[in-house]
Amino acid sequence: MADIRRVLVIYVGGTIGMKKKNGVYVPEQNYMVAEIRRNPTLHDESYAKKTSLDKNTLALPESNGIRVVYTIKEDKELKDSSNVNVQDWIDMATDIKTDYDNYIGFVIIHGTDTMAYTASSLSFMIENLHKPVIITGSQIPLAEQRSDGWSNLHGAIYIAGHYKIPEVGLFFNNKLFRGNRCSKKSSESFDAFISPNFPPLLTMAVEVDVRTDLFWEMGDGNEFIFNSHMNRNVAIFRVFPSITEKTLQSFLQAPMEGVVLQTYGVGNFPDNRPELREILQRARQRGVILLNCTQCPEGGLSDSYATGKVLTDAGVILGDDITPEAALSKLGYVLGKTSNREERLQKLEENLRGEITQRRIDRHD
Ligand code: ASP
Repeated sequence: MADIRRVLVIYVGGTIGMKKKNGVYVPEQNYMVAEIRRNPTLHDESYAKKTSLDKNTLALPESNGIRVVYTIKEDKELKDSSNVNVQDWIDMATDIKTDYDNYIGFVIIHGTDTMAYTASSLSFMIENLHKPVIITGSQIPLAEQRSDGWSNLHGAIYIAGHYKIPEVGLFFNNKLFRGNRCSKKSSESFDAFISPNFPPLLTMAVEVDVRTDLFWEMGDGNEFIFNSHMNRNVAIFRVFPSITEKTLQSFLQAPMEGVVLQTYGVGNFPDNRPELREILQRARQRGVILLNCTQCPEGGLSDSYATGKVLTDAGVILGDDITPEAALSKLGYVLGKTSNREERLQKLEENLRGEITQRRIDRHD
């Protein structure tokens, strides 16, 4: 008798399940399950018949004595991920919480455009996660030839059923990344995501290379905690050379409570424009929290330049090597969790879910 591993697949949308209508791609409702059912790599129909699986429950072929049986829960309104919002994250986390004890792993089928935001946000919203939550999707729909969706979907379900990875991960093109370390890097390549400052947790080739040494160490808490209160008055501001005082001032106005300041290089900002610094300081005095993160696709921060120190002196927190997506999610989470300023600042500096490396680059010493 095979060891049966049950996985819940939450299907929220994305290209993977889209079809062209009037010349543009839109999600197709009630289509995914039937499409997957026709693929023997993803579904063993004879097993399903023999064991009378319900119409939304499918089974991977048995391998090494393990049978992954997965149930697809399709959202009532499938979305292009450009339409995903905070409520959708809450719904996904609620689905996981509701069925947490019934499955050994979870897969979320999602569009690639905002996948890194969702992965980051879920990683903060869910505390004490002991099971894998793997987000995946594709660049080409399953309905079309050469779809990368087949291998992404198979890999995500296989991982969720085989490995006890206590993380929100993003699986794409044979690599499983820590979700809050990723950014979408290509609108065309199958290799669509990067995790610039942290290696993959798992790589699929002929062998499956699982880096258990990299898994995020959970605290002592066992109880699954779901933080549904994400502060929405947070935003990202990308600094640029022709920035005006008015632009910066308007951006920081109420109701803004937290801003990710995407700065140059290792966290630099003009130090020859005191008027800009004053605007930051005034915002800070009003209680706005500022978190520094680099515009570079790779690498982290240090305050080794005068142009960077000017920000730390103004009370801007160093975000280390955090991605912009994770920085925004972390701000929303921390500001939603506590209104105490000191606690907020302390939490933003902490490595809460493996989203930063906590290392300072000081290349001039
Ligand atoms: N626009 C699509 C989405 O994010 C793109 C994709 O899934 O690749 O839903």
